[in-house]
Amino acid sequence: MRETFIDALSAIRAACSLDGSPGRPLAARMVGPSTGDGGDWTDAAGRAGFIWQALRPLRGAPIASLVARVAPQWEPCSCRRRCCSGRARCFLWWDAINILAAGALVEGMAWSYPERFALVANLYGDERLTYRQLGERLSLNRETVSDHARRIEKWLGCGVGARTGIEPTALRNADALLADAGLILR
Ligand SMILES: [Zn+2]
Repeated sequence: MRETFIDALSAIRAACSLDGSPGRPLAARMVGPSTGDGGDWTDAAGRAGFIWQALRPLRGAPIASLVARVAPQWEPCSCRRRCCSGRARCFLWWDAINILAAGALVEGMAWSYPERFALVANLYGDERLTYRQLGERLSLNRETVSDHARRIEKWLGCGVGARTGIEPTALRNADALLADAGLILR
């Protein structure tokens, strides 16, 4: 039976948590072989595969911005190793941040990789650092960090109420693609 979602973010959230293929990088999902029209999936993994398939045109920064928005940064871990803190990185989220940090470079934000990664992670992550704290972590002055953070936020369009930029555009396109695929109601 085919289930529909109320919007694209709900569908992507489900696909991120019930993906059926742990350990597979986001980039690989987006270029994987076609799974056909989805047919009648019987489990969440099949449904997740169909969602990723429908979103293939958004590969790269657009889908990464939506995954960064909804995927958990951390997952509970029950490996019981002595060094385990009880949580593990959710590779989907970190993968998405990595893709966006690389995308910023392509868009001319030619700062160091650690800086780009830290700025993007700070926009989407659980740990909201101030510009001063980011500056201390990156050994940069506060003004440089705030200038760069604003540029990257504008490019992504990830601020509250933003209507232009990577993320708002990706969201509109994801809604249309998933509606075409019958995964959300128009
Ligand atoms: Zn563990």
